[in-house]
Amino acid sequence: MAASDLINLSGLIDDTKCFALVRQHRWPEGVRCPGCDKDAVIRDGHDDVQPCRQRYRCKACSGRFDDLTGTVLAGHHQPLRVWVLCLYYMGLNLSNRQIALELGLDSSDTQAMTEQLRRGLAARTPAVELTGEVEIDEVYVVAGHKGQPAAVAKRAGSGAGAGWRARRAAARWRRTSRPSSA
Ligand SMILES: [Zn+2]
Repeated sequence: MAASDLINLSGLIDDTKCFALVRQHRWPEGVRCPGCDKDAVIRDGHDDVQPCRQRYRCKACSGRFDDLTGTVLAGHHQPLRVWVLCLYYMGLNLSNRQIALELGLDSSDTQAMTEQLRRGLAARTPAVELTGEVEIDEVYVVAGHKGQPAAVAKRAGSGAGAGWRARRAAARWRRTSRPSSA
């Protein structure tokens, strides 16, 4: 019997605590306006549908926002406690399939959620701008390293290492010999 048949963890989780967790994570030094980044912020009631979701008003720019404005958690049909549990299961290294089972969601929803959470809570992070010469190295992980370092060590020198060196050399060659496009 799966654990989810015994207890519905999601039902035991308190929405108040979930919103408190988001606030703490998002604004460890106090609420700041996502519009102008000032901390001259006053509370301004609660969300109509989610009573634990605090609304704010910024005295500097008159902007209105709430606990989830500008985060990946805003505007989703899943309750916040499902997101929090998803984050918790990700921390336990559960696969998307296991998380979907635990939360009773379908796997494509779960995949979308974990992808968004991996990108971080902030929905709008400035795009990374690379300038000058950028080099990206190719990475090759020996499959046996996943949990079986001893087995890999035993095989070392019997071809695996040589294969890796050959691949690295080939990758380097491809990088350096690529004609520069104008
Ligand atoms: Zn503001």
